[in-house]
Amino acid sequence: MSETFREALLRGERLVADGATGTNYQMRGLARGQAPEEWLFQEPDKVTGLHRDFIRAGANIILTNTFGGTALRLAHAGLENDAANVNQRAVELARKAIQNERAWVAGSIGPSGALLEPFGTLTREEAVAQFAAQAKALADSGVDLLIIETQFDLGEATAAYEGARSVTDLPIIISFSFDMGTNTMMGLKAAQVAKEVTALGADLVGVNCGRSLDENFINLQEMRAATHLPIWMKPNAGLPRMTDDDIAIYDVTPEMMGEAAERWLEAGAQIVGGCCGTSPEHLREIAKAVERTRVTV
Ligand SMILES: [Zn+2]
Repeated sequence: MSETFREALLRGERLVADGATGTNYQMRGLARGQAPEEWLFQEPDKVTGLHRDFIRAGANIILTNTFGGTALRLAHAGLENDAANVNQRAVELARKAIQNERAWVAGSIGPSGALLEPFGTLTREEAVAQFAAQAKALADSGVDLLIIETQFDLGEATAAYEGARSVTDLPIIISFSFDMGTNTMMGLKAAQVAKEVTALGADLVGVNCGRSLDENFINLQEMRAATHLPIWMKPNAGLPRMTDDDIAIYDVTPEMMGEAAERWLEAGAQIVGGCCGTSPEHLREIAKAVERTRVTV
Protein backbone atom coordinates (compact mmCIF):
# COMPACT_ATOMS: atom_id res chain seq x y z
CA MET A 1 0.00 0.00 0.00
CA SER A 2 1.33 3.40 -0.93
CA GLU A 3 0.28 5.47 2.09
CA THR A 4 1.73 4.39 5.41
CA PHE A 5 -0.32 3.93 8.55
CA ARG A 6 1.58 6.80 10.16
CA GLU A 7 0.71 9.16 7.29
CA ALA A 8 -3.00 8.35 7.55
CA LEU A 9 -2.83 8.74 11.33
CA LEU A 10 -1.11 12.11 11.17
CA ARG A 11 -3.62 13.37 8.60
CA GLY A 12 -6.22 12.73 11.28
CA GLU A 13 -8.10 10.13 9.27
CA ARG A 14 -10.57 8.07 11.25
CA LEU A 15 -9.79 4.39 10.84
CA VAL A 16 -11.48 1.07 11.55
CA ALA A 17 -9.66 -1.65 13.47
CA ASP A 18 -10.95 -5.22 13.37
CA GLY A 19 -13.11 -7.20 15.81
CA ALA A 20 -12.48 -10.12 18.14
CA THR A 21 -10.06 -12.90 17.39
CA GLY A 22 -10.61 -15.36 20.25
CA THR A 23 -14.40 -15.30 20.50
CA ASN A 24 -14.84 -15.57 16.71
CA TYR A 25 -12.40 -18.49 16.56
CA GLN A 26 -14.46 -20.19 19.28
CA MET A 27 -17.60 -19.68 17.17
CA ARG A 28 -15.69 -21.28 14.28
CA GLY A 29 -14.55 -24.29 16.26
CA LEU A 30 -11.50 -23.40 18.36
CA ALA A 31 -11.53 -25.84 21.26
CA ARG A 32 -11.65 -24.61 24.82
CA GLY A 33 -8.15 -24.41 26.23
CA GLN A 34 -6.53 -24.37 22.78
CA ALA A 35 -4.23 -21.42 22.07
CA PRO A 36 -5.49 -19.34 19.09
CA GLU A 37 -1.92 -19.37 17.71
CA GLU A 38 -2.21 -23.15 17.13
CA TRP A 39 -4.63 -22.33 14.31
CA LEU A 40 -1.83 -20.63 12.38
CA PHE A 41 -0.65 -24.13 11.54
CA GLN A 42 -3.78 -26.28 11.99
CA GLU A 43 -6.43 -24.03 10.42
CA PRO A 44 -4.69 -21.35 8.33
CA ASP A 45 -7.74 -20.93 6.07
CA LYS A 46 -9.88 -20.05 9.07
CA VAL A 47 -7.28 -17.49 10.18
CA THR A 48 -7.22 -15.77 6.79
CA GLY A 49 -11.00 -16.24 6.54
CA LEU A 50 -11.68 -14.19 9.66
CA HIS A 51 -9.21 -11.49 8.54
CA ARG A 52 -11.04 -11.34 5.18
CA ASP A 53 -14.45 -11.12 6.85
CA PHE A 54 -13.26 -8.11 8.83
CA ILE A 55 -11.73 -6.43 5.79
CA ARG A 56 -14.98 -6.96 3.87
CA ALA A 57 -16.85 -5.44 6.81
CA GLY A 58 -14.70 -2.33 6.51
CA ALA A 59 -11.60 -2.84 8.67
CA ASN A 60 -8.51 -0.80 7.71
CA ILE A 61 -6.37 -2.42 10.39
CA ILE A 62 -6.23 -6.14 11.10
CA LEU A 63 -4.45 -7.62 14.08
CA THR A 64 -2.19 -10.63 13.71
CA ASN A 65 -3.09 -13.81 15.57
CA THR A 66 -0.16 -13.31 17.95
CA PHE A 67 -1.80 -12.02 21.12
CA GLY A 68 -0.02 -14.79 23.06
CA GLY A 69 3.08 -14.66 20.86
CA THR A 70 5.84 -14.20 23.42
CA ALA A 71 7.88 -17.37 23.95
CA LEU A 72 6.88 -17.24 27.60
CA ARG A 73 3.19 -17.48 26.81
CA LEU A 74 3.56 -19.86 23.86
CA ALA A 75 5.05 -22.34 26.32
CA HIS A 76 1.48 -23.05 27.48
CA ALA A 77 0.83 -24.50 24.01
CA GLY A 78 4.25 -26.14 23.69
CA LEU A 79 5.24 -23.63 20.98
CA GLU A 80 7.95 -21.76 22.90
CA ASN A 81 10.76 -22.91 20.60
CA ASP A 82 8.75 -21.81 17.58
CA ALA A 83 8.03 -18.24 18.66
CA ALA A 84 9.70 -16.46 15.72
CA ASN A 85 7.97 -18.81 13.29
CA VAL A 86 4.56 -18.27 14.94
CA ASN A 87 4.87 -14.50 14.58
CA GLN A 88 6.15 -14.69 11.02
CA ARG A 89 3.39 -17.06 9.95
CA ALA A 90 0.72 -14.82 11.48
CA VAL A 91 1.98 -11.80 9.53
CA GLU A 92 2.06 -13.83 6.30
CA LEU A 93 -1.55 -14.96 6.75
CA ALA A 94 -2.73 -11.42 7.55
CA ARG A 95 -0.90 -10.03 4.52
CA LYS A 96 -2.38 -12.76 2.33
CA ALA A 97 -5.89 -11.87 3.51
CA ILE A 98 -5.47 -8.19 2.62
CA GLN A 99 -4.58 -8.77 -1.04
CA ASN A 100 -5.19 -5.41 -2.76
CA GLU A 101 -7.48 -3.87 -0.17
CA ARG A 102 -6.55 -0.73 1.73
CA ALA A 103 -5.62 -2.16 5.09
CA TRP A 104 -2.61 -2.32 7.39
CA VAL A 105 -1.30 -5.19 9.48
CA ALA A 106 -0.93 -4.54 13.21
CA GLY A 107 1.28 -6.93 15.12
CA SER A 108 -0.63 -7.90 18.26
CA ILE A 109 1.35 -8.18 21.49
CA GLY A 110 -0.66 -9.26 24.54
CA PRO A 111 0.42 -9.77 28.14
CA SER A 112 3.07 -12.40 28.80
CA GLY A 113 0.76 -14.38 31.04
CA ALA A 114 3.20 -14.04 33.94
CA LEU A 115 3.12 -11.29 36.56
CA LEU A 116 6.06 -8.96 36.85
CA GLU A 117 7.82 -8.18 40.09
CA PRO A 118 6.59 -7.09 42.61
CA PHE A 119 3.26 -8.80 41.78
CA GLY A 120 4.96 -11.96 40.53
CA THR A 121 8.37 -13.41 39.79
CA LEU A 122 9.04 -12.24 36.22
CA THR A 123 11.93 -9.77 36.24
CA ARG A 124 11.68 -6.57 34.22
CA GLU A 125 14.81 -7.51 32.30
CA GLU A 126 13.35 -10.84 31.21
CA ALA A 127 10.02 -9.22 30.30
CA VAL A 128 11.75 -6.61 28.13
CA ALA A 129 13.71 -9.39 26.38
CA GLN A 130 10.55 -11.45 25.75
CA PHE A 131 8.68 -8.51 24.20
CA ALA A 132 11.71 -7.36 22.20
CA ALA A 133 11.99 -10.82 20.63
CA GLN A 134 8.31 -10.89 19.67
CA ALA A 135 8.34 -7.31 18.34
CA LYS A 136 11.45 -8.07 16.27
CA ALA A 137 9.86 -11.17 14.73
CA LEU A 138 6.74 -9.14 13.85
CA ALA A 139 8.68 -6.16 12.50
CA ASP A 140 11.05 -8.36 10.48
CA SER A 141 8.01 -10.07 8.94
CA GLY A 142 6.65 -6.73 7.72
CA VAL A 143 3.90 -5.48 10.04
CA ASP A 144 2.89 -1.82 9.61
CA LEU A 145 2.48 -1.06 13.32
CA LEU A 146 2.50 -2.75 16.72
CA ILE A 147 -0.35 -2.91 19.23
CA ILE A 148 0.61 -3.71 22.81
CA GLU A 149 -2.87 -4.56 24.10
CA THR A 150 -5.04 -5.68 27.01
CA GLN A 151 -2.47 -4.31 29.45
CA PHE A 152 -3.33 -3.97 33.14
CA ASP A 153 0.03 -3.39 34.85
CA LEU A 154 2.18 -0.33 34.09
CA GLY A 155 5.33 -2.36 34.77
CA GLU A 156 4.49 -4.87 32.05
CA ALA A 157 3.16 -2.25 29.61
CA THR A 158 6.31 -0.15 29.89
CA ALA A 159 8.54 -3.25 29.63
CA ALA A 160 6.70 -4.26 26.45
CA TYR A 161 7.13 -0.76 25.01
CA GLU A 162 10.80 -0.63 25.93
CA GLY A 163 11.40 -4.03 24.33
CA ALA A 164 9.47 -3.18 21.18
CA ARG A 165 10.99 0.28 20.76
CA SER A 166 14.48 -1.17 21.10
CA VAL A 167 13.99 -3.14 17.86
CA THR A 168 11.77 -0.96 15.63
CA ASP A 169 10.76 2.59 14.71
CA LEU A 170 7.24 1.49 13.67
CA PRO A 171 4.22 3.22 15.25
CA ILE A 172 3.36 1.62 18.60
CA ILE A 173 0.00 1.69 20.36
CA ILE A 174 -0.34 0.83 24.05
CA SER A 175 -3.86 -0.17 25.02
CA PHE A 176 -5.27 -1.06 28.44
CA SER A 177 -8.10 -3.31 29.58
CA PHE A 178 -10.15 -1.90 32.44
CA ASP A 179 -11.27 -5.26 33.77
CA MET A 180 -12.68 -3.81 36.97
CA GLY A 181 -14.88 -1.38 35.01
CA THR A 182 -13.00 1.91 35.31
CA ASN A 183 -9.84 0.41 36.84
CA THR A 184 -7.46 -2.19 35.48
CA MET A 185 -6.84 -5.35 37.48
CA MET A 186 -3.93 -3.53 39.15
CA GLY A 187 -6.10 -0.51 39.95
CA LEU A 188 -4.91 1.84 37.20
CA LYS A 189 -7.21 4.58 35.90
CA ALA A 190 -7.47 5.72 32.28
CA ALA A 191 -6.14 9.22 32.96
CA GLN A 192 -3.09 7.85 34.73
CA VAL A 193 -2.15 5.36 32.00
CA ALA A 194 -2.72 7.99 29.31
CA LYS A 195 -0.24 10.32 31.01
CA GLU A 196 2.33 7.54 31.46
CA VAL A 197 2.01 6.38 27.84
CA THR A 198 2.34 9.97 26.61
CA ALA A 199 5.49 10.46 28.68
CA LEU A 200 6.92 7.20 27.31
CA GLY A 201 6.63 8.50 23.75
CA ALA A 202 4.26 5.88 22.30
CA ASP A 203 2.31 6.88 19.18
CA LEU A 204 -1.19 6.11 20.44
CA VAL A 205 -2.91 5.11 23.65
CA GLY A 206 -6.02 3.01 23.85
CA VAL A 207 -8.86 1.25 25.60
CA ASN A 208 -9.63 -2.36 24.69
CA CYS A 209 -11.50 -5.37 26.08
CA GLY A 210 -12.72 -4.48 29.60
CA ARG A 211 -16.34 -4.71 30.69
CA SER A 212 -19.46 -2.79 29.69
CA LEU A 213 -19.74 -0.21 26.91
CA ASP A 214 -20.83 2.41 29.45
CA GLU A 215 -17.76 1.86 31.63
CA ASN A 216 -15.44 1.88 28.65
CA PHE A 217 -17.00 5.13 27.45
CA ILE A 218 -16.02 6.71 30.77
CA ASN A 219 -12.49 5.31 30.29
CA LEU A 220 -12.33 6.88 26.84
CA GLN A 221 -13.45 10.28 28.13
CA GLU A 222 -10.90 10.19 30.97
CA MET A 223 -8.18 9.23 28.54
CA ARG A 224 -9.15 11.99 26.07
CA ALA A 225 -8.93 14.63 28.80
CA ALA A 226 -5.47 13.44 29.89
CA THR A 227 -3.48 13.31 26.63
CA HIS A 228 -3.06 14.85 23.19
CA LEU A 229 -2.17 11.44 21.68
CA PRO A 230 -4.50 9.81 19.15
CA ILE A 231 -6.80 7.29 20.83
CA TRP A 232 -7.52 3.67 19.90
CA MET A 233 -10.93 2.42 21.10
CA LYS A 234 -11.60 -1.32 20.80
CA PRO A 235 -13.90 -2.38 23.65
CA ASN A 236 -15.78 -5.64 24.13
CA ALA A 237 -19.31 -5.90 22.76
CA GLY A 238 -20.46 -5.46 26.36
CA LEU A 239 -20.26 -7.94 29.19
CA PRO A 240 -20.88 -11.57 28.31
CA ARG A 241 -23.25 -13.82 30.20
CA MET A 242 -22.34 -17.48 30.48
CA THR A 243 -24.72 -20.23 29.39
CA ASP A 244 -25.03 -23.52 31.25
CA ASP A 245 -22.58 -24.97 28.70
CA ASP A 246 -20.07 -22.29 29.67
CA ILE A 247 -20.40 -20.41 26.39
CA ALA A 248 -20.09 -16.61 26.48
CA ILE A 249 -23.07 -14.79 24.97
CA TYR A 250 -22.73 -11.10 24.09
CA ASP A 251 -26.05 -9.28 24.10
CA VAL A 252 -24.88 -6.07 22.44
CA THR A 253 -26.26 -6.12 18.89
CA PRO A 254 -24.35 -4.89 15.82
CA GLU A 255 -26.65 -1.85 15.68
CA MET A 256 -25.95 -0.98 19.32
CA MET A 257 -22.23 -1.31 18.67
CA GLY A 258 -22.52 1.03 15.67
CA GLU A 259 -24.36 3.65 17.72
CA ALA A 260 -21.75 3.36 20.47
CA ALA A 261 -18.95 3.78 17.91
CA GLU A 262 -20.44 7.08 16.79
CA ARG A 263 -20.20 8.32 20.40
CA TRP A 264 -16.56 7.14 20.64
CA LEU A 265 -15.68 9.17 17.55
CA GLU A 266 -17.49 12.23 18.86
CA ALA A 267 -15.63 11.83 22.16
CA GLY A 268 -12.31 11.95 20.33
CA ALA A 269 -11.29 8.40 19.42
CA GLN A 270 -9.50 8.24 16.06
CA ILE A 271 -9.38 4.47 15.55
CA VAL A 272 -12.38 2.33 16.48
CA GLY A 273 -13.02 -1.40 16.46
CA GLY A 274 -14.22 -4.06 18.86
CA CYS A 275 -12.76 -6.65 21.20
CA CYS A 276 -14.38 -9.83 22.62
CA GLY A 277 -17.84 -10.53 21.20
CA THR A 278 -17.32 -8.31 18.14
CA SER A 279 -18.34 -10.30 15.06
CA PRO A 280 -17.86 -9.17 11.45
CA GLU A 281 -21.53 -8.01 11.58
CA HIS A 282 -20.74 -5.79 14.57
CA LEU A 283 -17.69 -4.49 12.77
CA ARG A 284 -19.72 -3.56 9.70
CA GLU A 285 -21.85 -1.27 11.87
CA ILE A 286 -18.74 0.27 13.43
CA ALA A 287 -17.36 0.95 9.94
CA LYS A 288 -20.67 2.56 8.96
CA ALA A 289 -20.37 4.87 11.98
CA VAL A 290 -16.95 5.96 10.72
CA GLU A 291 -18.45 6.61 7.29
CA ARG A 292 -21.33 8.63 8.77
CA THR A 293 -18.96 10.83 10.73
CA ARG A 294 -16.12 10.95 8.25
CA VAL A 295 -14.08 14.11 8.48
CA THR A 296 -12.80 15.30 5.13
CA VAL A 297 -9.04 15.45 5.34
ZN1 LIG B 1 -11.38 -8.67 24.65
